[in-house]
Amino acid sequence: MKRALNKRVLVTLVATILATVCGVAGGYLLGGALALRQAKHRLQEDVERLVAEQTAFLKETRATLETMNASTYPYCSEAEIGYFRKLVFQTDYLRDGGRIRAGKIDCSVTLDAADLLHAQLQPAYSTPDGVQVFNATGQLQVRDQITLGVQFGDSYVVINSGMGRRLDKTPLQFIVTMTAALDHNPSRLMSISPQPDDAIFTRNGLSRRRETLYFTLCTPASFSCTTTHMTTSEAMLADRTELRIFMALGGLIGALFGVVLSIFYRRNRSLENQLLRAIRQDKLRMVYQPIVNLASGEIVGAEALARWTDEEGFAVGPDVFIKIAEERGFMGEITRLVVRHVLRDFSETLRAHPDFQVSINVAAADLGDPRFLPMLEQSLDQAGVLAASVVIEITESSTALHKVALGAIRYLRRLGHQVHIDDFGTGYSNLSYLHDLSVDAIKIDRSFTQAIGTEAVTVTILPQILAMAETLHLQVIVEGIETSQQAAYFIGGAKSILGQGWLFGHPVPPEEFLRLLAASKQLRPQGSIEQAAIYLADGI
Ligand code: C2E
Ligand code: MG
Ligand code: MG
Repeated sequence: MKRALNKRVLVTLVATILATVCGVAGGYLLGGALALRQAKHRLQEDVERLVAEQTAFLKETRATLETMNASTYPYCSEAEIGYFRKLVFQTDYLRDGGRIRAGKIDCSVTLDAADLLHAQLQPAYSTPDGVQVFNATGQLQVRDQITLGVQFGDSYVVINSGMGRRLDKTPLQFIVTMTAALDHNPSRLMSISPQPDDAIFTRNGLSRRRETLYFTLCTPASFSCTTTHMTTSEAMLADRTELRIFMALGGLIGALFGVVLSIFYRRNRSLENQLLRAIRQDKLRMVYQPIVNLASGEIVGAEALARWTDEEGFAVGPDVFIKIAEERGFMGEITRLVVRHVLRDFSETLRAHPDFQVSINVAAADLGDPRFLPMLEQSLDQAGVLAASVVIEITESSTALHKVALGAIRYLRRLGHQVHIDDFGTGYSNLSYLHDLSVDAIKIDRSFTQAIGTEAVTVTILPQILAMAETLHLQVIVEGIETSQQAAYFIGGAKSILGQGWLFGHPVPPEEFLRLLAASKQLRPQGSIEQAAIYLADGI
């Protein structure tokens, strides 16, 4: 039982864990997909902001250069340099400016004549409207960074990296690709890392290469394209909380799914299917409960009772599984199994002891089944067991309902079987019907036995039942005797009464029963219930 419970818990646990893991993974994928979508939006938003900044910046730079060109001071005079210094340093995006002619810097606001020897502007490209862009090197270059210079007319300026504070707030990585004047080989400026595919940087819109997302926006007016980019893992990390929520939700849904799945799994392996499998694989067991002569204490018979343990290790009561088999129409298969087991367990004993009988329970469905009687007859024949050795127990309700059942009972008795009415008193108790039925014995239901010594109204009916049985010459078997007081109640009448119950023995496996029977025959107790009860209970 404990093992079965553990197994059941384990199956549910494993299913739930698996489904939770799947749910978390699903949540991760979903959260990831959403994070990527959001990342695309962010890349687009940022590139648009970046381009707007650049456009404004280029306009301002060009305006500064135009102002410088319009200087009325003498070319490269102290006054002009002072004037330029003011113009350059009132912006936060320029770091130098000065005069340039034929590719040679003539004067600068930050470098003196000696430094100028080491400063160079190498042409990168020029736009159709006459703006030239340079890569500043030597003294003009900011260490390890691409430094841009712009020339218009005879003036130049050098741009601060990140266009000054304008782009400082941008956490994104971006690339500016100049598209003008260079037909085949757009120059990449402010590039962060070497990039694999130029098309990504010169075509508007989103692209993805391996684990990196790019969003490019080209502005023909500034002859450039700007691309923001981000790796997928950066995109995921940016939305960590959201991702966690999705994973948690996914896990929760997964866990629920797991529980539902294990319920479904258990349903699928319904009792009915399990029972059918058990019958077909011969996994039902039989136990036998002694029926004793109350006066002598001697075992005179055994009732065969079926037992079944389901696939999860739970013992399922016959009340439950017999009902299932009856409802689903395969009761015949159980009865066939019972007959086979009883004959296998008791053929020898029954042949050796003609005064000993085994009772089998037969359901209403069996009595109406045309295969039942031939099966029984044939099985007994093959086993060499007399019909008189096998008692058929039927319940009141089954006899009352079916005409067919009445025919079957008559036929069984003609064959030599005794027919006993099981659970007598709980169903259709009608004297005349009992008379018509002509059976051999009634088994008084244990609810009457258990009422003995109490105030229950059922006790008052007992004497009437016993009297009626005597009138109709019916043997009486009392079910459910658990105490010697209950047993004593039935002794002393004119006719000998048989009894069955825990006082004399629980239902036990065949080997154990045969040991009890052998002991009972050896000891031959003389009319003492207590004695019989003691040796049976001791399992001698
Ligand atoms: P039943 O034929 O009336 O069987 C007697 C039931 O009373 C058995 O329950 C038995 O274990 C129980 N019993 C015996 N002595 C005592 C006692 O002193 N006190 C109490 N409280 N109970 C006692 P079980 O084995 O659970 O069977 C229940 C019913 O299931 C049986 O009632 C019978 O109607 C049916 N059944 C069992 N095996 C088969 C079978 O192979 N075929 C058919 N058709 N029905 C079966
Ligand atoms: Mg019975
Ligand atoms: Mg009964």
